[in-house]
Amino acid sequence: MDSTWINAPAKINLGLDVVRRREDGYHEVKMIMQSIRLFDRLTLKKTRTPGISLTTNLHFLPVNEDNLVYKSARLLMEEFGITEGLSIFLDKRIPVAAGMAGGSTDAASCMLAMNRLFHLGLSLEELKTRGVTLGADIPYCLQKGTALSEGIGEILSPLPAAPDCYVLIAKPGFHVSTKFVYSNLVLDENTVHPDIDKMLDCIQNRDLHGLCHNMANILETVTIPAHPDIALIKQTMMENGALGALMSGSGPTVFGIYEDRKEAMRAKEICRSLPCRCFVYVTDFYR
Ligand code: ATP
Repeated sequence: MDSTWINAPAKINLGLDVVRRREDGYHEVKMIMQSIRLFDRLTLKKTRTPGISLTTNLHFLPVNEDNLVYKSARLLMEEFGITEGLSIFLDKRIPVAAGMAGGSTDAASCMLAMNRLFHLGLSLEELKTRGVTLGADIPYCLQKGTALSEGIGEILSPLPAAPDCYVLIAKPGFHVSTKFVYSNLVLDENTVHPDIDKMLDCIQNRDLHGLCHNMANILETVTIPAHPDIALIKQTMMENGALGALMSGSGPTVFGIYEDRKEAMRAKEICRSLPCRCFVYVTDFYR
């Protein structure tokens, strides 16, 4: 086998809490992660020319060691002394810097594909140990599905599949800095924390309405005041049949949960016409 390809799914956060800020500056989180069927695709080919050559359909993305795909490929090539060359084409579909872990899922998928292509024989756990050195979300992106993520994101507990539904994604045309959001998050005795445990109960009981009712993301307390359009997208989704709507990660992507596909498609068109110029997409959970 000289080439292979892999789909890298995006994630949303059905719930996101920041439990505390650690002395070392890292944030301890409690998040419910869910993969969705919105994919980047990586195609990997062995080449005679040594080294890594990365290309992508998005001209503004870095194709050197600033790209997480490049970093993950180099990590495995160095550790396993791979002397053949590797060319990687990254077909990006997941909006960039959107709160959907696009870079992390690409890195995770690159490692999975290289494990296959070069017969590295690494187990999922062994890949996770290597992945976490590049990013706290990479272990989850290797595992995928529904999971509780704790610590700085690296402590993962798989959860039963979240109930079936349709997901409307709306990514407005502006950018949010993750660093800005975390550094402006106020955590004190007045902070209202999302009830992640209640959400876990709803997932166990396959209670979609209860799950949607309890969905919350503490980072909205920072991102929404800075970008009120996020509240407008949420409101638009809720007024158009969503059981729940929430910002994913540090934003700006908003997702809405629907029981009915037609309703999700109708809401998609309404969100598309909002002035904040959203990328819109209807999909479902990736198991
Ligand atoms: P998260 O949800 O983990 O915070 P995100 O979806 O907000 O991630 P990414 O799409 O992963 O953000 O990209 C954030 C930054 O990382 C971008 O500005 C981009 O330049 C850089 N980057 C590096 N590698 C990649 C990649 N493979 N895909 C997208 N962005 C990448």
